[in-house]
Amino acid sequence: MQSYSLKCYKCNAIQKDNSISRIYCQNGCNELLVCEDISEIKKNPLISLLKSSKTFSLGEGNTPIIKLEKIGEKLGLNNLYVKLEFMSPTGSFKDRGSVLVVNIAKKENIRDFVEDSSGNAGASLSAYAALGKIKAHIFVPETAGKGKVDQISIFGSELHKISGPRENSTIEAKLFAEKNNIPYLSHNLSPYFSEGMKSFAYEINESIGSIDHIIFPTGNGSLLLGTWRGFLDISEKTNFNLPKLHAAQSKAIEPIVAKFNNTNWTFDSSKTTIASGISVSKPPRLQEIVDVIKESKGTALSSTDDEALKWHKILAKEEGIFCEKTSAFSFSALEKLFSKGVIKKEEKIVIPITGSGLKEAI
Ligand SMILES: [Zn+2]
Repeated sequence: MQSYSLKCYKCNAIQKDNSISRIYCQNGCNELLVCEDISEIKKNPLISLLKSSKTFSLGEGNTPIIKLEKIGEKLGLNNLYVKLEFMSPTGSFKDRGSVLVVNIAKKENIRDFVEDSSGNAGASLSAYAALGKIKAHIFVPETAGKGKVDQISIFGSELHKISGPRENSTIEAKLFAEKNNIPYLSHNLSPYFSEGMKSFAYEINESIGSIDHIIFPTGNGSLLLGTWRGFLDISEKTNFNLPKLHAAQSKAIEPIVAKFNNTNWTFDSSKTTIASGISVSKPPRLQEIVDVIKESKGTALSSTDDEALKWHKILAKEEGIFCEKTSAFSFSALEKLFSKGVIKKEEKIVIPITGSGLKEAI
């Protein structure tokens, strides 16, 4: 793991300090960082991680990928697949990033850390913190789902419930970290967290080969960004078709859709959404997300809560999949992309079922 280095997304400067709490460029531009691959570890980071000594794991990754026959038939698609990320140890895809972040933190002898989360990432980091015997302080919005908050508590993390919009949890977490001199290991900002997501691309490639499209429910974009970097790695080694990556958002909170399509959108706190996992009005990696979508020749589009709820029910009643409501936004996006001709009948599509419906009230 020490063979990673960090690079500034804006000025490309390789950073002198690669520690886990390093988030911004030291070269003066104060931009976010990305992991720069080093040849010996230019492969699936989870495999690399688990092969190294003194690491801990909950068996994350390698989630099932299955074909949706009934919904495929309903829409007229012959190759629609879902990857069941809710079968991860803590019930969401976040475990792919958490295992990397917490293992590195442990190697750096970090004893406690601060994180803010709408729920899934907080629960995931808490589980790995428990395993690594590190104290986690998790800041969540008061509105976070009970299932997710209970998860954070049972793992022994200190829970800080913050009132107001999601952003308030970030502000309070940063203040707390500074005041108490505790590392702030934000999953939204950490370059290592999205690096862990690369494994998602490797697993798709190993199980069903080249695909044409992936539709991600997108908030902070860690899964979309890490997956793209994973596919770029694979395409360097094999004759691999890079898929188009699409971002699905909620009409109430659609900063990525607005930036990608050059439309106007401003945050209005009176507009709520059931898409709690992607309710991010200011994604810190917004430019990076838009750049990747464009590079992949994908799209960004939003749906209403009602459109997504329709798919939430169809997934349960026809395919036996009880997903978090956030994941249903990808299916509404799929329906639109197919009707516009962006996605075609024979093309191979993957949708991540990012989290479990069991964590939320219906
Ligand atoms: Zn820089």
